[in-house]
Amino acid sequence: MARILIIEDNPASMELMSYLLTAFGHSALCAFDGERGVALARSERPDLILCDAHLPRLDGCGVVGQLKADPQLRAIPVLVVTALAMLGDRERLLAAGFDGYIAKPIEPEQFVAGLEPFLPPAVLVPDL
Ligand code: MN
Repeated sequence: MARILIIEDNPASMELMSYLLTAFGHSALCAFDGERGVALARSERPDLILCDAHLPRLDGCGVVGQLKADPQLRAIPVLVVTALAMLGDRERLLAAGFDGYIAKPIEPEQFVAGLEPFLPPAVLVPDL
C-alpha cells in the first residue's frame, strides 16, 4: 500500500485517478494546483507523486523543478500525467526532471500497473 500524491487541476481526472488508486489499495492525497502540491509533498512525504503538466499557480515543470532541487524530496519518483503528445514533449518533460510519463486519456485497466514499477519495493509488500 503506497501513499500517492496527485497534483491535477481537472476534477474529473483527479476523481478517476484517486478512485483507481484507492480501488487498488493505495491511498491518494490530492492537490489542485502546483504550489499546494509542493507544500503537500513537503508535509506528507508521499511514496510517489503524479503531476499534471498544465496547472494553475505553478506548472508541472515548476513543480518537478522545486521537488528535485530539495534534497529531502528529490528521491520521491514524480510521474507526469499528460495528454501532451507532440514529438519532443516526452523528452522535454523527462529533461525537466520527471522520472516517468503516463499518457492521458487515463486507461483504467492499465493505470495502476503502469505506475507500480516506480514505487519503492517495500510499499508493494502486502499487509499480512
Ligand atoms: Mn491541467
